[in-house]
Amino acid sequence: MTKYIEYKGFKIKERFVKHYEKIVDDIDLFLDWSLRPLKKAIRVNTLKLKDDIGNLNKENPFPKLISAKEILKSLEEEGWEIEPIPFYKYGFWVRHESESIGNTWQFQMGYIYSQEAASMIPPLALDLEENLLILDMAAAPGSKTTQIAMHTQNNSYIIANDISLDRISALAENVQRTGSLVTITMQDGRNFKKYKNTFDRILLDAPCSGVGALRKSYKTLQMWNPNMIERLSKLQRQLIQAAFEALKPNGILVYSTCTLEPLENEFVVNWLLERYENAKIEPIRIENLKSSEPILEWENYKFFDDIKYTLRIYPWDNDTEGFYIAKIRKLE
Ligand code: SAM
Repeated sequence: MTKYIEYKGFKIKERFVKHYEKIVDDIDLFLDWSLRPLKKAIRVNTLKLKDDIGNLNKENPFPKLISAKEILKSLEEEGWEIEPIPFYKYGFWVRHESESIGNTWQFQMGYIYSQEAASMIPPLALDLEENLLILDMAAAPGSKTTQIAMHTQNNSYIIANDISLDRISALAENVQRTGSLVTITMQDGRNFKKYKNTFDRILLDAPCSGVGALRKSYKTLQMWNPNMIERLSKLQRQLIQAAFEALKPNGILVYSTCTLEPLENEFVVNWLLERYENAKIEPIRIENLKSSEPILEWENYKFFDDIKYTLRIYPWDNDTEGFYIAKIRKLE
């Protein structure tokens, strides 16, 4: 029978707590932060905004082209508190006593996109520029796809793929609303293995156990179990291998998850390094972003030294979800 412990009114599997005692230095800090409500965040969508000061007419904003500054000002006038996210100039934490951001006209017109702050990090590691062929292998509902389109100003060819039809509907809606130019495909990401040496950039924001996202969904705590982690880790290894095969020489693959499980993070990336001598981890440098030490040894495994260049982000590092991000270059 599953044993539980009580923590500040939450019932948590004892096995989960014991497991995380091996991962983090301070289990109380980990539980405390994992159960704090998550701050809502938005990204301003520069695909639909101009830089200079335009005319804002709130009665009829549709035909107007307006700037990011004006959009933020209009939200403030409507009672939103806005706080810049220190590590990303297009990201802002937002708070309102009674409104939901999805109901604002600024959101519905695609001027802003609702996106968790840590989820804004992986596209930044892709070294995005124009005229690239880019694959987002597990893309739905499209937070990072639309951010990639924004950073390339619709001047790269982006394929946004996902396996789930339900989630692809949300992806299509988000792509449409944000004015992102994207081709959507629906297939198992592992099938991309056959397109050898094809893409300049690949994002694999992998399906994962979501332990980093407990602040958003406490349900994850109920679902957590070691068998699920093993299953996901296997799928992640198959997906990362397909992604690496499909990457052009000198191309960049970013692997990310919103979990803190070593088997889904460092282990997966290390597994790739063991199999491909031409896979090289590069450091990710983002001003004002804090991160913690990656795991370099886990159970019977000792990982490559270069795993230290990957980013393990705990909720308390930047007051976000927990995330893991690795930037991998394919050497020529
Ligand atoms: N990148 C998305 C974003 O930023 O909005 C979130 C992606 S979510 C973490 C992982 C996605 O992987 C889910 O949408 C899921 O449907 C998809 N997925 C699961 N198994 C897959 C597979 N074998 N091939 C492609 N996508 C898969």
